[in-house]
Amino acid sequence: LMADSLFIINNYAREYFTDTLFNKPEGQNVGLSYFEERGFTEETIKKFQLGYCLNTFDSFAKSALDKGYNLEYLQKTGLVTIRNDQPADNYRGRVIFPIHNQSGKILGFGARILVKSDRAPKYINSPENEIYVKSRVLYGTYFARHAIDKLNECLLVEGYTDVISLHQAGVENVVASSGTSLTQDQLRLIKKYTNNLTILYDGDSAGVKAALRGLDMAIEEGLNVKLVLLPDKEDPDSYVQKIGAEAFREFIKEHKQDFVLFKLQLSMQEAGTDSNKKSQLVNEIAETISKIDKAEDFTRQQDYIRQCSQLLHIDEQGLIQLVNKFIR
Ligand code: ATP
Ligand code: MN
Ligand code: MN
Ligand code: MN
Repeated sequence: LMADSLFIINNYAREYFTDTLFNKPEGQNVGLSYFEERGFTEETIKKFQLGYCLNTFDSFAKSALDKGYNLEYLQKTGLVTIRNDQPADNYRGRVIFPIHNQSGKILGFGARILVKSDRAPKYINSPENEIYVKSRVLYGTYFARHAIDKLNECLLVEGYTDVISLHQAGVENVVASSGTSLTQDQLRLIKKYTNNLTILYDGDSAGVKAALRGLDMAIEEGLNVKLVLLPDKEDPDSYVQKIGAEAFREFIKEHKQDFVLFKLQLSMQEAGTDSNKKSQLVNEIAETISKIDKAEDFTRQQDYIRQCSQLLHIDEQGLIQLVNKFIR
């Protein structure tokens, strides 16, 4: 089967890249040093099966072809590409983050450049294929699922390194959207483990705007969504490395806020005294509240109506009627 072949190739590549990282001079001097400078311990590097792809034209491609792996399949995984009519390594000179499915099999890779450049993207991710469908994957699920289940909460961050640093700090119920906005499939994946989603984004990031767009969808899926805004210019990785595990956990506890109320307050700031904008935002918040399935969570809907009408200085009954207009 095609899918099986792709899994086998990815697994071979993972072994090849981790072997390079730990056992080849360039792997140690460039890749391993990079991870160490970022504060990742050997235990963490091994747990997440991080690797390094040599900065050569085709070391990996040659090795895989020698092993007998099919060129067409190697190209499908994105590991090998054709350059000047020759099979070439796509991730050369990059550190490698394998992306695991829920049972630990490798769906694809993220490959990070070591030094920022205007000519090359920071990350190259595997292309979509029979096994890797971006919209269905959350990075870190394999490592996080037991903790999510146990703590009945899933933290959502943007990047690979956020997941890894938080794990190292003992925060294990965390997955990453890998920089894209949340999809319904991803929300359903979270729902398999918990109803409680807490989003950790930096305050001024595009990520928050994207998350706001996904809020109604998350509510419709029955998720209870909280938000933690990190200080400007910090992501969970940089911030936990800066302030330490204990302080970071304390920060999350103290700054966790309800996402619906956050959205309302943000819109209120934006609307200012403009009455058109204000009535528009009342409508929007009523629509959001209407997405909470009454049968499933009547109390929560009532709580939102009470809190929002207080914030908006409007009559509770009026808001109830508006909410009901959106429920058919
Ligand atoms: P690092 O700490 O290594 O710089 P990061 O995770 O903080 O990485 P961000 O720029 O915050 O990087 O991006 C968040 C996530 O978005 C990344 O982890 C990656 O999954 C994805 N991403 C970022 N840049 C790209 C890119 N150029 N192409 C594809 N995906 C990207
Ligand atoms: Mn960002
Ligand atoms: Mn980062
Ligand atoms: Mn980041």
